[in-house]
Amino acid sequence: MARCLHMYKSGFQCIDDSIEPTGFCEAHQNILEFEKLQESPWRKVFFRVVALVLLILFLIPFVWTLKGLYMEPPAKAQEVW
Ligand SMILES: [Zn+2]
Repeated sequence: MARCLHMYKSGFQCIDDSIEPTGFCEAHQNILEFEKLQESPWRKVFFRVVALVLLILFLIPFVWTLKGLYMEPPAKAQEVW
């Protein structure tokens, strides 16, 4: 049996025996799976937020030009009056 590959933040390696396919002991295997489960939705949320911000940044000039097109005729009309 090999030793668990988990390293503590202090720098010490876990002394428990590893389960063959993963290389981690039972306790740390569960932690790893838990971290994976927690990580993926947050990454998705993060990338969605970044994509949304980029979309808004690209849309702002577009909205401003549209506003300019629709706001110009009344502005000109006011100048004439
Ligand atoms: Zn362990």
